[in-house]
Amino acid sequence: MSFTVGIVGAGPAGLLLGRLLHRAGIDSVVFENRDRDYVEQRQRAGILEQGTVNTLRAAGAADRLDRLGIPHDGIDLVYDGAAHRVDFVELTGARVWIYAQTEVVKDLIALRLADDLPLLFEAEVQSITLDPPMIHYRHDGQPHTFSCDYIVGCDGFHGVTRDLVPAPVLSRSFPYSWLGILVDAPPVHHELVYAHSRHGFALASMRSPTISRLYLQVPNGTTPDTWPDDRIWSELTTRLTPHTPNEGRITAKSVLPMRASVRQSMQQGPLFLAGDAAHIVPPTGAKGLNLAAHDVTVLAEAFTHLSQTGSPELLDAYTETCLRRIWRAQHFSNTMTTMLHISPDQTEFETQLQLSHLHHTTTSPPTTQSLAENYTGTTPL
Ligand SMILES: Cc1cc2nc3c(=O)[nH]c(=O)nc-3n(C[C@H](O)[C@H](O)[C@H](O)COP(=O)(O)OP(=O)(O)OC[C@H]3O[C@@H](n4cnc5c(N)ncnc54)[C@H](O)[C@@H]3O)c2cc1C
Repeated sequence: MSFTVGIVGAGPAGLLLGRLLHRAGIDSVVFENRDRDYVEQRQRAGILEQGTVNTLRAAGAADRLDRLGIPHDGIDLVYDGAAHRVDFVELTGARVWIYAQTEVVKDLIALRLADDLPLLFEAEVQSITLDPPMIHYRHDGQPHTFSCDYIVGCDGFHGVTRDLVPAPVLSRSFPYSWLGILVDAPPVHHELVYAHSRHGFALASMRSPTISRLYLQVPNGTTPDTWPDDRIWSELTTRLTPHTPNEGRITAKSVLPMRASVRQSMQQGPLFLAGDAAHIVPPTGAKGLNLAAHDVTVLAEAFTHLSQTGSPELLDAYTETCLRRIWRAQHFSNTMTTMLHISPDQTEFETQLQLSHLHHTTTSPPTTQSLAENYTGTTPL
């Protein structure tokens, strides 16, 4: 069977789906409302599960990842001023990879353009119709319409496609946000550090051996200009103890709200949702990018099955196939978030519960194993 898929959004979900469909011989067109430079520079996630790495390798999109990605075999959990290592490889046989979302996106764009496949930047999708499937967009100052057989909404949390799937959205918000900075300095530690502190949560991550990515829990409504560099370094030093941050030039500062939401159906007729268009997880579990990659892997297999057999059975089962992993990631991300952050009205009783939870997580082998499985995406589903 031959058909064409219109993909809205050139984030990791849309670009990876386009790549997987191309490898399966299925035509697609990708519409992206921002310009190429913006999409390639947008700072977001940076941790890839082994499953995501495997997908990128199988898609022939991992040459740079295999050269520049940094494998991590564990993380440090810090509480009460002491560090406790969780060894993923020993517990699960799996590891994770540090490779920035910006690099994943750059790789996929370069491959798509090298293959001379349609990818329209500065093409804002304004609406879509489902019967028949049509994408209405503005490009070069003109309105256009693109007819296709299927539409996939990969346009993130603020896109136009998600509200066309009339399903309940289950969500929660958190009473805090993250201030994220990018720093020209070597990482704090050779692995990621997740720190519980009475001053609030801190995370020490990295983008490369010379670029650090650091986060501080801040109150909702915070703007980056209320955090001068000195204040950031002072808080990081306090919260990350016993680790010490390496100070350097801060090249980016932004505030990231913490949200969780799941649309209980990811499809409506010829429209499918993938990635942040369908669900948002708080970033504490490092799952957003990995879930997006998983959704489009399932969807690409379903389109491939349709093209090879004419049967829509896998497409019909798309939501059900994805939701189990999405809710597992949601549970893990929520658990990590509430275990590590200090709520504005938190009592000492609740702080002691968090410390007990952290102690249990780092000393009870089955509980440590559970964290390792969830973090690496190897939990049986
Ligand atoms: C601001 C932000 C910061 C984040 N930081 C972290 C982090 O630090 N750590 C972490 O683990 N995770 C983080 N995440 C989560 C992770 O980056 C996302 O889960 C991931 O980007 C999901 O990929 P996606 O392709 O589904 O959506 P996106 O990456 O959001 O891509 C959607 C694309 O659709 C385009 N688009 C939107 N509307 C239209 C339209 N009408 N027409 C055409 N194109 C459109 C957008 O421009 C964008 O390129 C962050 C997410 C956000 C939003």
